[in-house]
Amino acid sequence: MQADTELLIFTDMDGSLLCHETYSHTAADDMLFLLEKTGVPVIPISSKTKAELLYLRDSLNNKHPFIIENGAAVFIPIGYFDEQPFGTEVVGEFWVKKFVHNRHYWQSLITHVSSVDSHKFTTFSELTVGQISELTGLDQEESKRASRRLYGEPIVWKGDDDEMIHFIEELNDMGANVLRGGRFLHVSGESDKGLALTWLAEQYKEDNPNSLIKTIAIGDSQNDVAMLEVADVALIISSPAHQPPKLERRTNIYISEKFGPAGWTQGVEEILEQHSTQTESLKG
Ligand SMILES: [Mg+2]
Repeated sequence: MQADTELLIFTDMDGSLLCHETYSHTAADDMLFLLEKTGVPVIPISSKTKAELLYLRDSLNNKHPFIIENGAAVFIPIGYFDEQPFGTEVVGEFWVKKFVHNRHYWQSLITHVSSVDSHKFTTFSELTVGQISELTGLDQEESKRASRRLYGEPIVWKGDDDEMIHFIEELNDMGANVLRGGRFLHVSGESDKGLALTWLAEQYKEDNPNSLIKTIAIGDSQNDVAMLEVADVALIISSPAHQPPKLERRTNIYISEKFGPAGWTQGVEEILEQHSTQTESLKG
């Protein structure tokens, strides 16, 4: 019997599905409509918070699972699969699979740092929405959504570089994973977009054991590398702001010519075309 292939698209948001500067997804809307119509789920996977992704998902009219805070947790609408996936808990309207401890755990770990004085840094939870807005350039509502981290704590660094290194080393020794972003340090656990993609793809397979799952990962930068490496197909979206991330894999890589959502559409079109040619030839 011929198995059906089920395509899953995992996509980064900023600089990939959303324009790097305007955050618009207009150039991908026709393709998003087509994918929804043909039953190909588009799964947002981002460094953003649950609050930010819920907001975006609404504007995209997207009802599929989504992955927050760089792979820290997967949110699946309850009832999306026939059975609740093993290892998930019910949180509101979602089955949630988390890969790291809750934010509270990391906040408490930070209070145990002894090598660096606590006035050398400010945690996100100590900041007002107004201060976050000033630091990030987001408006008040956006800042509120960005501040609702569930699985890690961002930190504004005020000390020097040596002190920062001590701080990071001490937290690493306590089992934390500290990422240096543009303006912030992010304190959380070991998780990445690749692990989250692999786990969620397995749940689709469990739900539909006769199908052949084919995953497509779409991203534009370094924090997308883990998922771009593990997906069946990697689509890198070119950026006007930086070089494309370097991958170790050598096959099934597409790099868009256009930027942002226009490149997204272009790349997905190409992959779908390739995919249908392969499917046709398999059927002989
Ligand atoms: Mg991006």
